[in-house]
Parts: sequence; C-alpha cells; structure tokens
Amino acid sequence: MTKRVYSFGGGKAEGKTDMKNLLGGKGANLAEMSNLGIPVPAGFTITTEVCTEYYANDKNFPPELVSDVDKALKNIEKIMGAEFGDPDNPLLVSVRSGARVSMPGMMDTVLNLGLNDETVRGIINKSGNERFGWDSYRRFVQMYGDVVLGMKPDNKEDIDPFEEIMDKLKQEKGVSADLELTVDDLKELVKRFKDVIKTKLGIDFPTDPREQLWGAIGAVFGSWDNERAILYRKMNNIDDSWGTAVNVQAMVFGNMGETCATGVAFTRDPATGEKVFYGEYLINAQGEDVVAGTRTPQQVTLEGSKKWAASNGIEEQVRKKSFPSLEESMTDAYGDLVKVYQKLEDHYRDMQDIEFTIQDRKLWMLQTRTGKRTAAAAVRIAVEMVEEGLIDKKTALSRIEPDALDQLLHPTFDPGAERKIITRGLPASPGAATGRIVFHADDADEWNKKGEKVVLVRIETSPEDLKGMSTAQGILTQRGGQTSHAAVVARGMGKCCVSGCGDLEINYAKKEISVKNISLKEGDYISLDGSTGDVMMGKVPTIEADLSGTFGTIMEWADEIRKLGIRTNADNPNDARVARKFGAQGIGLCRTEHMFFEGDRIKAVREMILADTVDNRKKALDKLLPMQRNDFYGILSAMEGYGVTIRLLDPPLHEFVPHEEENQREMAKELGISPEMVKAKVESLHEFNPMLGHRGCRLGVTFPEITEMQSRAIFEAACQLKKEGIDARPEVMVPLVGTVRELVMQKEIIVRTAEQVMEETGIKVDYQVGTMIEIPRAALTADDIAAEAEFFSFGTNDLTQMTFGYSRDDSGSFLPEYIDKKILPSDPFRILDRTGVGQLIQIGVEKGRSKRPDLKIGICGEHGGEPSSIEFCHIAGFNYVSCSPYRVPIARLAAAQAVIKNS
Ligand code: PEP
Ligand code: MG
Repeated sequence: MTKRVYSFGGGKAEGKTDMKNLLGGKGANLAEMSNLGIPVPAGFTITTEVCTEYYANDKNFPPELVSDVDKALKNIEKIMGAEFGDPDNPLLVSVRSGARVSMPGMMDTVLNLGLNDETVRGIINKSGNERFGWDSYRRFVQMYGDVVLGMKPDNKEDIDPFEEIMDKLKQEKGVSADLELTVDDLKELVKRFKDVIKTKLGIDFPTDPREQLWGAIGAVFGSWDNERAILYRKMNNIDDSWGTAVNVQAMVFGNMGETCATGVAFTRDPATGEKVFYGEYLINAQGEDVVAGTRTPQQVTLEGSKKWAASNGIEEQVRKKSFPSLEESMTDAYGDLVKVYQKLEDHYRDMQDIEFTIQDRKLWMLQTRTGKRTAAAAVRIAVEMVEEGLIDKKTALSRIEPDALDQLLHPTFDPGAERKIITRGLPASPGAATGRIVFHADDADEWNKKGEKVVLVRIETSPEDLKGMSTAQGILTQRGGQTSHAAVVARGMGKCCVSGCGDLEINYAKKEISVKNISLKEGDYISLDGSTGDVMMGKVPTIEADLSGTFGTIMEWADEIRKLGIRTNADNPNDARVARKFGAQGIGLCRTEHMFFEGDRIKAVREMILADTVDNRKKALDKLLPMQRNDFYGILSAMEGYGVTIRLLDPPLHEFVPHEEENQREMAKELGISPEMVKAKVESLHEFNPMLGHRGCRLGVTFPEITEMQSRAIFEAACQLKKEGIDARPEVMVPLVGTVRELVMQKEIIVRTAEQVMEETGIKVDYQVGTMIEIPRAALTADDIAAEAEFFSFGTNDLTQMTFGYSRDDSGSFLPEYIDKKILPSDPFRILDRTGVGQLIQIGVEKGRSKRPDLKIGICGEHGGEPSSIEFCHIAGFNYVSCSPYRVPIARLAAAQAVIKNS
C-alpha cells in the first residue's frame, strides 16, 4: 500500500533527512529534527507523489488520502494536547509547500488555519490575549481569501481587496499603523473580509476547519503550477514533474505577547564563513515580520548585538534597552537554541539556516536547511570543517561550486562603501572597477602611462580597442550583450565589464556621457560592478582578491586529487603570468594573431596580406618576424619549464583589413598604393562563409612563407632563451587540419625551420609538433593524423560548430529558443555536447592513441573552463584542459571534483 502521509513530532518521525525526494526538503528535515529529539511542533507531510497523483487525476485527491490525513491529525492532537475545531481548546495548523529543492517564496502558505467564530474564543481564552486572537483571525481570513479562494490580484498594480478594506478602515479611524487598530476594529475587519468574499465569489467563508484544511492542501499543490513557480523552475533547471509536498504542522505563536519571539539564524556567518552563531529575531512577532523590514530585527547573540550597535552608531544603553539580544532578553530559550544549533550542525556536518519561534519562553524549531552562502564563506567553512574533523577533504571539495570561485578572483568593492548608482547594465564580466572616464583605447593607454586608473567607456568595442581594454580597470559599453566583443574579451582578461547599458548616452565629440539627468565628463571618476551590472558615480574603494588562506588550501587539496593538468589560453606574457599565479601548468593555446593588433604591427600584417608577389609578402613578413619573436620570447619565458602550445595563424585574412572607405584610404596612404587597389584586395578577400573558407592551415598551405616566418620566430625565441639558461618548451600547433596531408606539409616547414634555426644558433631545444582536432574529419581519421602529430588539442568551439552545423557567430538568433523548447538541454558552445561532439572526441582519442599510445591530448575550446565539460575530459582520458587565466582555479577544482564523482 502506498504511504502518502508521514507524521512527525513528539521526539519521533516516520520520515528522515534522506527522503527529500518524497517529503520535500522542509518535510524531510522536520522529520529528522524530530528524530533527533529537537522540539518541533507536531505535524505531517503529504508526499510529492500525491502532488503528482493530484495532477494526473485532474486535480482530485486520491480517495485514501482523507483517512490518512485524519489519522495524522489525530497524532498531532495527541502530541499537542489540543483538538482541531474544538471551541475550547482548538488546534491551529499551518499548511506549507516544500519541494525537493527550496523554491523560496514561489509557492503558497496558509497560517492560523482552523479559526472560526468559535475557535477564536478558544485561543483568546488560552492566551488571555483578545487582540492576538482577533488579529490571528483577520490574518487567516485574508490569507485564505488570497491563497485558497484566489482573491490575490495577478498584477502588482492591482489592489488586494483585503488591503483596500484595511486601508479604508484605518482612514475611518484616523490611524496609520496596524497596531493602532483596536480589538473592535479587528472584529470589524473579519466581518468586512468575509463580506467581500461573499460579494465577489458568492460563497460564505468556510467555517468548518476540515473544509479549510482541504482547501489549503489543494491550493498548495496548485501553487506548484503558478506562473512564478514555473518561471523559477525554468531559471533553476528544476524538473516540472517533481511536484511539491505539503506540510501541515501545529501552529506555535511568536506573537502572543512579550514572552514570545521569532527569528532566523545561521550556524556560521553566511557572508564570511566565520564560525560565529549569527541570527536575528523579534519579540512578539510572526516569522514574516523579521524579513519584511517593517521592524528593525534584533541580534540573537550579545556579541552580534554589540557589533551591530557599533556599526549603526547606537549607544550601549540604548542598545540594551531598545534592541537587546536574545541572549539577554530570553536567556533560557537562547541557551536551548545554542544547544539545538550545535546539535544540528554536528548532525548535518554543514552550516545550517534555521527558523525558530519562542512561545511562552519555550523554543520551537520550524525549519533547518543547508544555508546558502557566499563563495568566500563556502571556501572558509569547507576548510574549517575539515580542520574541526567534521568532514573529509573530498567532501569539502565537493561542496564548493567551481563557478562561484570566480567571485573570489577579482577585486571587490569594500562592502561598507557608499554606492551612488546611476544606472545598471548587464553584468558581463565580474569584478569591481574604479577609475577616470576615457572614451578611446589610445587615451586609456596614455592616461595609464601617466599613472591614472581609467574606465574605458565605449558605445561598443572592436579588436582595435584591445590594448586600451587591457590597460583600463574596467569597460563600460552602451551596446552589446553577454557575448559581445567587450564581454568576451573582458572575461578572457579577467577584467570587469558592464555591457549593454542602454540608457547611457555617449557623446564622443563632447567626451561626455549622460544618464537620466546626470552627466559625466572625461576624467571624472566612475565605478563598475561587473557582478551586478551597477554603474556608480565617483570612486568606490575596492579590496584586492586574496588567493592565500583557505582559498589556497582548497586549491592545494584539489591539486592533490586531480588527474588532469590545467593549462591556460594566453596570448601575451602578462596573461601567462596571471595564469601561472592562478596555478596554470603551461599554455594550451596561444592564438598568435591576437598580437597582430598591438601597436604598429597591424600595418605590417596588412602589408603582408596585400602583397601580390611572394617577394613582397616576404618583405612584410620580415618586418613581422622580430615582433613575433619578441612576443614568443616573453610568453615562453613567463611559462618557463612548462609546455607552451603556439598555434599558427588561424583566422580568415579579411579580419585584419579595413572595411570602411576612410580607413582604406588611410591604409593606401601608409602603403603608398592607390585606394582602389586596397579596395579591390579587400573585396577579393570577401568570402560567403569565412569560417569555412580560407583559414587555418589552409593559409599555411597557400602561403607557406607565413608558416615559415612564424616557426622561425618561435625557434629563434626559444634558442635565445635556452642560451640564457631559461627552459623554453615550444609546441607548434597546426590549426584546422582535416586531412593528414595538410599536417604533413606544414610539419615539413616547421621541422625544416627548426633545424635551420638550431644550426644557425648552435643551440638545441626540445619541441613538439601537433595539431588541433576541430574538424569532424580529423576526429574520424585521428589514427592517420596521430602518425604525424605528437599532440592533439581539441578545438571544441569549431568542432561544435561543425558537428551541429551551427555557426558560432550566428547561433544567437535561434539557440535560446532551442533551449527554451527543450530541443537542446543547454548551449552546446558553453557545455560540451557529450552525445554528439563527445562521441567524435572519444573516437579521436581512441584512434589517436591506437597509433601513438603516448599521444598528449588536451582541449582548448571555451569548454576547457566549464566544469561539466572538464568532467567529460577527465572521463575521456585527456592529459590536460586549457582555459582562460581567470578560470584556472575553477578548472583545478572541477578536475578534482571529476575524480571524486567518478571514483
Ligand atoms: C576552437 O575552435 O575550439 C579553438 C580553440 O579555436 P578558435 O576559437 O580560435 O577558433
Ligand atoms: Mg578553432
């Protein structure tokens, strides 16, 4: 027989904590607390399966439920010593939702259920508090009317009929606060509330407690499918089929007088993770009042209360009199609470978020759950709990969300600082930036050289702005979303960026921005919060990220466990150094062309592209050679002792030439040729599908001199370093190979050049030649390719593009809808598609290693920094993953979690 109802209370329970799927989080933990002998008002949980039945059965309860609920009610009555519907000694209950995972505030709750014109007298007699009785009754009619009878307005703008009645009565009585209403006023409210129900719905307010109860149970099940809850589930990837449980529990009252209170607390500080009991409470209040902000909540502990008073400028005498801690005001109940919280934390071995009520000085626990915390707190709590012997290292590592570490790697605003927010854009790249406004990349550079910190403000950014972006503290753009140039580049640099700030007006000519009625000029201070999108006026003090302490410990533990190496994608010495500081063990991808925009070199690049003879091209390449050599010298030296994978030129050449007439004219002047010639050349480079066109190794095949120049630059730099006693380890990577012949031809040039340089310099360096696997055909013929390649690096950006046939640049127009309509579970450019792309990778790994067992295998697409994709790489037997510098710590943790999850 299916068990549909689980009772708890009186020191025992039918459920327990690992039954969350069936009893919901709240129900399972109430049961667990009961089992632990913690004082919990007795109650019962109707399972999530009943919710599913209810929906499958056209919103009808299974018939057996009635007697199950009756039996469970009897149990509550027995434990609490009161009877449901008894006019002299009434039991009142709360009816609350509770899904497997917490969906805060999304579903419905009914409190004080069981009240009617008779039972209200019962609770008045019992409490000796007439006001309390009538206030509870009017709250109940209102809540029931809103939630169960559906009188709550759908729109925020619409007025709640009960609020309207209440406002009118207050007006009639000439009072402004609820507390000023008399007992007679409250009685009048109950009457008027019932009347409005009668006029609007044509029904009498149900007086039978059982009828009330079934109405409330149905409403809570029904709220699983309200718009709010559906949206919340979608945003948080919660399965629509799970359903909610319903918890029916005896009411205890924190609002019955001065010996009553209610509060919420965390067993450790959820902001910092410090091991201090942290909570807030209110005397003579109901749960909602603590969070509603209508009264100032007081601190639970004396220490917390003193700290609170100090930071709010409240004198000790005033604090003691008007805002005492629970520790002072109800010493015994506080003592019980301390015992309970310690018991709960020891039992769950994790920081708990608890809710309690004190009725007539007796403590009751209403909820416990794993407390939400900041990333900093998560790290500190995990490490300290290992030190306290509560958990082991693996559990500690598993508890930290890798992506959340991002918050810890960037500077943050001083939490105590004042923020003058002027507008908000998209939080494109986390971090905190404060600096003077500049509008052009060159200016950013110039001001920076003068020692000024700047924020680059642009309508949008382009590759030409790279230098300025890298010297700015942060980037603010008026246009562009999370994947705009500014956002992507800033994330790669680990730089704070707020993009798509639509109500910002930017006037480059006047060097001015305006938003609403505020305008700021070049040189004025502005601050950006890349985690919230806030744009603030003036200077807001920041705090640097601290990579030592508990963060360092977590990283050490991750390194002890993980099998994957962690490399970084870096194109310049500075990024390489940053990544190394974060723990990178080499470079998995250096996109050489990213350096082509630096300084004057774009001119030489354009000259090389425009050359119409091999000789002219070589002349241009000769100019580029020393610049590239210099770049490689810097990068190889920053990564001393680790492999540095340098990719030969990859993008289509048209990306480097100017497309606007004015810029073409400028370029013609610089090169001493006619503008028409430039225009003609640019047009000749036009391709219908540049991503599938003349790019990757195809460039090296048609212009072998480019491969030759780049190889020379690499080996000259490496030999020079070796001469200086620096351990340089170049790995030359050929991009976009689809057939082994392409690799053979490129390799021949690389090896020949390497030998030449080594002979010229008389110095030998160890090096490798390998390839990217980013075309499906390369994966399918990986055995042939491995005969020539010493390493594979999966370029999963292109591999995803070509496997799905979705353009990387254009998929934004349909992918969100594909995900919405559940055609795809997630964006395959973000989370590696294991079924399709993953299969090609597995074939690639298997075939590659069948030919060359020691083949080194890595990944350098964006997926290399995404935790679930990293897990896949671990399972597939990769040697390393490579990701942008600021994702290195995330990857270290994710790689350790992959081991823990798969062992
Ligand atoms: C890739 O395709 O995955 C890759 C890393 O190369 P790019 O993004 O430069 O095309
Ligand atoms: Mg690629």
